[in-house]
Amino acid sequence: MQREFAAFHAPVPALLALTRDDQLLWNDILDLKPLAHLAYGRTLLLGDAGHATTPNMGQGAGMAVEDAAVLAQCLAETTDLPAAFRRFEQRRLPRTTRIVRTSWQLGRVGQLENPLVVMLRNTVMRYLPAAVSRSQMAWLYETV
Ligand SMILES: Cc1cc2nc3c(=O)[nH]c(=O)nc-3n(C[C@H](O)[C@H](O)[C@H](O)COP(=O)(O)OP(=O)(O)OC[C@H]3O[C@@H](n4cnc5c(N)ncnc54)[C@H](O)[C@@H]3O)c2cc1C
Repeated sequence: MQREFAAFHAPVPALLALTRDDQLLWNDILDLKPLAHLAYGRTLLLGDAGHATTPNMGQGAGMAVEDAAVLAQCLAETTDLPAAFRRFEQRRLPRTTRIVRTSWQLGRVGQLENPLVVMLRNTVMRYLPAAVSRSQMAWLYETV
């Protein structure tokens, strides 16, 4: 950690130097392969239960909040619970699946180890115009 963050600004290197090994937390990252369904009759999976994702896009909590908003709308449209849950699944599954898949792919690219490929990735990322990366992610900011 001290080696990786040596060039960071203060107080990052100093904090790492003061951190003992027994103070470090190691938690594995767990995600779910995209599920075919979120609605199962009167049972609905939402938030991480339905689409736990890798952290590469920082979207786990965002999706959970979106789920809550869409669920409220679906429940306002009908008193038929399974129908509301099916509607929720219809509205949410394409977006949550896309985010889970994209996040997983970004993670793979981010964790490449072959030095040549890493150099190529870093160069491409450095010179990629901001407008291109913004337009690639525009769908993320569309309303749900
Ligand atoms: C280190 C870290 C950083 C993250 N950073 C981001 C970020 O920057 N942006 C982002 O969008 N997301 C981030 N996330 C992901 C985000 O925290 C989760 O996607 C989000 O909390 C999922 O919300 P949830 O309500 O589905 O589940 P949770 O927040 O896990 O809530 C589930 C709740 O259910 C409770 N529970 C479990 N079992 C039972 C039971 N049997 N009975 C009663 N209660 C129970 C749990 O105690 C918990 O309170 C991060 C996650 C981690 C771990």
